[in-house]
Amino acid sequence: EPSQRVALVSGGNRGLGFEVSRQLAATGATVLLGARRPLAGEKAARQLRREGGTVVSVPLDVTSPQSVRELAARIAGEYGRLDILVNNAGAYFDVDDQASSVDLDIVRDALETNLLGAWRLTEAMLPLMQRHGYGRIVNVSSGCGAVESEGASCPAYRVSKAALNSHTRMLAAELAGSGILVNAVCPGWVATDMGGHGGRPVADGAAGIVWAAMLPSRPSINGGFFRDQQRIDW
Ligand code: NDP
Repeated sequence: EPSQRVALVSGGNRGLGFEVSRQLAATGATVLLGARRPLAGEKAARQLRREGGTVVSVPLDVTSPQSVRELAARIAGEYGRLDILVNNAGAYFDVDDQASSVDLDIVRDALETNLLGAWRLTEAMLPLMQRHGYGRIVNVSSGCGAVESEGASCPAYRVSKAALNSHTRMLAAELAGSGILVNAVCPGWVATDMGGHGGRPVADGAAGIVWAAMLPSRPSINGGFFRDQQRIDW
């Protein structure tokens, strides 16, 4: 186990990503707080530094191959490795759409961020984990992406999270035995800009994500879908 972990959190400037960054920093990790709006990222990182964390804001738009490439090169140059990747950035909670009539451009946009964004970032960061045979990849998903979940709201979002779950399973199977663990986590319904009022405190939702980011090597927990450290159905 690395003594000083280097962690990258996408969408770290607000909501769950911000709180995950805070909790990871509290474990002693060096946190690279990814934000597509540099000023928002710097403001968030500054706040966490004031709280005592080692937190560095890094520009990251997960939909931009160039942004992702540049960040991977920077991490390789400055740290030489990455231990934790939290694919948290997410968008398009399209509650008002229906699967029978949704504009497919919305579906495409949701997939671009929630599926391809996580996939792209993972592919770019994997070599930084593989070179030292250690890594924890956490895909922040949603119970609504489970194939048998009830209801039919937010079709674009739902399909993107179901696809992210599928990607999680494939990648975990492929990397089994490599020292890199890949899991999906649903934070539950959380009071953020996306979740709105009435959800549970962001710290509670973030805790399950941080748990998956800090998994010990044994027992090897890989390729699962969790909420509050408990397995849930895909
Ligand atoms: P928020 O809307 O509060 O925050 C979303 C974050 O993602 C922001 O930092 C946003 O940046 C960032 N982001 C969006 N698109 C991109 C992009 N292309 N590149 C980089 N960053 C991007 O959402 P939450 O904190 O609630 O959600 C975090 C994750 O948790 C998401 O994956 C969401 O699907 C998941 N989730 C949330 C639930 C909830 O109840 N809140 C329930 C289940 C899952 P910016 O500030 O620039 O917009």
